[in-house]
Amino acid sequence: MSKKGIAILGSTGSIGTQALEVIEKYPDFFDLQVITAEKNAELLIEQALKFQPNAVVIGDETKYQHVKEALAKEPIHVYTGAEALCQVVEMTEVHIVLTALVGYAGLKPTLSAIDAKKDIALANKETLVVAGELVTKRAREMGVNIYPVDSEHSAIFQCLTGEFHNPIEKIYLTASGGPFRGFTHEQLKSVSLEQALKHPNWSMGAKITIDSASLMNKGLEVIEAKWLFGLKPEQIDVIVHPQSIVHSLVQFTDGSMKAQMGLPDMKLPIQYALTYPARFQTDFPRFNFMDYPQLTFEQPDRKVFRNLDLAYEAMEMEGTAACVLNAANEIHVAAFLERKISFLQIAEFNEYILKKVENILQPTYEHYVEKDREARDLALQNLGSL
Ligand code: NDP
Ligand code: MG
Repeated sequence: MSKKGIAILGSTGSIGTQALEVIEKYPDFFDLQVITAEKNAELLIEQALKFQPNAVVIGDETKYQHVKEALAKEPIHVYTGAEALCQVVEMTEVHIVLTALVGYAGLKPTLSAIDAKKDIALANKETLVVAGELVTKRAREMGVNIYPVDSEHSAIFQCLTGEFHNPIEKIYLTASGGPFRGFTHEQLKSVSLEQALKHPNWSMGAKITIDSASLMNKGLEVIEAKWLFGLKPEQIDVIVHPQSIVHSLVQFTDGSMKAQMGLPDMKLPIQYALTYPARFQTDFPRFNFMDYPQLTFEQPDRKVFRNLDLAYEAMEMEGTAACVLNAANEIHVAAFLERKISFLQIAEFNEYILKKVENILQPTYEHYVEKDREARDLALQNLGSL
């Protein structure tokens, strides 16, 4: 059996480092070809020395010399800059690209990988939120598979195995509810950055952790699900499940429901996306019913957590609306992380930008780039006037 050549975009992040743990366990199956980081040169060097990939990319050009010198004695190509990301994914030895970088930055390299006929293991949900229409169309044209890494979408994908010809009636994406589940609008006025960064069940990068606290993450996942599974907005529902054991559910047209369950551990969906259709034996801790005598479900509070409905609104608007919402959210989450705005202002300003930027239907790639830029500029201008 020839080994599977892997490129990990964003190998120094939460998903990237867990993917490396998975890859390390199966040296006869995986062949790590490419790893990349934006700023974290030290960890990238450490990973390169350990895994000996064919190529590494450090996004930040000021760190290029340092990485190059540290790897001078190794047979490893070192590249820098955003364009390099688009080129390394095209390498012949790469069979599948794990997009584990964060935000809009994932769009261009993902499109390059699809054009080079590489399968995608998609963690970077923002890519489908921004340009799901274009990305899924291009993937179909090129005969490329997109395997979900996001735990909810992996759950749906696993429930659909053997069911691909059976229509879906609806899906339920589960949400933990985050650290502020049950909070009132009044209580949310004074929550701190530290509180928002403390997710009850998952340890993740800062951006997605804030998105989870504001329910924007679930909103982005609703849009991601629409594109991955070809669903209409009314076929996608969100249910809060604080224990994060049921990772999501599919309801078929005969009323039967299938759920995928397990302890919350991202290594499992990462591994499944890389080994599909096989399941490899693991020593991950197993679920014990007696540890969870009750699995509970409740409605999300859409009035208090406005971002979820904003995502539904953007999805209904189609065109570049979700791209605009995503751009606004990236700016506002960054501002919240820098303590420049309050938690509630994230959704408040997201809504303002979504309403303000003109929506372009049936957009081209250039339209997405234009609207992303416009939304960011407007959001920054608005923040500057505070
Ligand atoms: P992290 O912030 O932990 O890691 C992001 C990675 O991308 C790092 O390697 C970082 O490099 C790199 N990176 C950051 N900005 C850029 C950029 N502009 N250009 C290129 N590379 C960049 O994020 P996560 O691992 O938490 O999340 C990655 C993606 O996966 C996100 O889209 C998230 O929504 C999704 N996801 C994550 C889950 C999780 O459990 N973490 C679960 C489901 C989905 P550096 O370290 O040098 O900054
Ligand atoms: Mg998820």
